[in-house]
Amino acid sequence: MWRRPARAGGGVLFSHRIRLFRLFGIDVRLDASWLLLAALVVWTLADGVFPELAPGLGRQTYWGMAAAGAAGLFASIVFHEMAHALVARRFGIAIRGITLFIFGGVAEMDGEPKSARGELLMALAGPLASTVLAGVMLALTAAIGGTERGAADGVTWYLAIINGALALFNLIPAFPLDGGRVLRAALWAWQGDILKATRIAAGAGNLFGLALIVFGVVDILSGNFVGGMWRFLIGMFVRGAAETSYRQTVAERSFSGVSVAQVMTPDPIALAAEASVAEFVDHVYRYHHRVFPVIRNGALVGQVGTQQAAAIDRSLWPSVPVAEIAVPCRDEEVVDPALDAMAALTRMQRSGITRLFVVGKGRLIGVLGLRDLLELLSTNLDLDGAGIRRSSSADATAGRGRPARWRWSAGSRPGTR
Ligand SMILES: [Zn+2]
Repeated sequence: MWRRPARAGGGVLFSHRIRLFRLFGIDVRLDASWLLLAALVVWTLADGVFPELAPGLGRQTYWGMAAAGAAGLFASIVFHEMAHALVARRFGIAIRGITLFIFGGVAEMDGEPKSARGELLMALAGPLASTVLAGVMLALTAAIGGTERGAADGVTWYLAIINGALALFNLIPAFPLDGGRVLRAALWAWQGDILKATRIAAGAGNLFGLALIVFGVVDILSGNFVGGMWRFLIGMFVRGAAETSYRQTVAERSFSGVSVAQVMTPDPIALAAEASVAEFVDHVYRYHHRVFPVIRNGALVGQVGTQQAAAIDRSLWPSVPVAEIAVPCRDEEVVDPALDAMAALTRMQRSGITRLFVVGKGRLIGVLGLRDLLELLSTNLDLDGAGIRRSSSADATAGRGRPARWRWSAGSRPGTR
């Protein structure tokens, strides 16, 4: 399956998810979108797959088999993700949980592997687990099976096929699929350059996504609507994931080990608490900022913006001190200079705040704008050669800022006959 970077529990990707159970200390959750997949799978199995696979059984039996098959698919995806997660944990990466959603499963983790070897083993764990499970199901099928296929071995046979398909599909060398991660790890180990390795693997992911989209459209035009739509959507998802993962890697490389103090604008323009609103307005025109920090003896006491000034009668501007109209800064707007720049960027993406006040030893010593971080990022993307799509680099990172660090694995595709 795939893995992708998730921030704060993958809140961006999943809207309605529930916690099902806990296994090896890892929460397993279900996103509401999975129910749509399950319904499609049950319907396809009962209506087409099982009557063909095990002919001559009753209608009701097929529905029962279909329900068992869908449950087995669920367990198979959890098994696959659990393999990724447990290997990740061995490499010291904290696991936030596993979530099943319409396109398969996601193992959310708190970091990326630090070595090519770690990346390789984590990536291979899922497909390997699926292959083993396929073997077990195959053996079960042989053990149960008589001359004619019945309900039980019909289901185990289906699960053998589906687990084999899970292993194979996820091994396609298109980042962020497992196979793409294997490719990345190999290139990384070979050339020692994770950025270049990620760019190539993500480029392959991008092309693969495009191919899925094209095949999907062809499918839809030739009448296979469900299967075609599925390919199309997965293709869109793969392309988005490939690009986001690449940007995420560049961001992490650019900002890892870099502190807020190193990238902030030092000695920011601030207003003394006793300065008048008129002085604030002068500042707005002179420096082209809409908001200024307000300080008293060097300490940050709040901020004042055009909104607050507009609420005051113009005739009072020269006499009212900004301290009177300043609003306090929220905790998440204030950062420590020693904080990791990546953590600051993550905080901005999560909260939507575009400017942070840097306070050290009780004094305001700088400001950190999202724009500054993105410019640095965009410079690095340029220096690195070429982004996948360079034109929109900064905005894409800022706006959509998808969760970092998850591993996605593609699940089953309904509508296969
Ligand atoms: Zn996987």
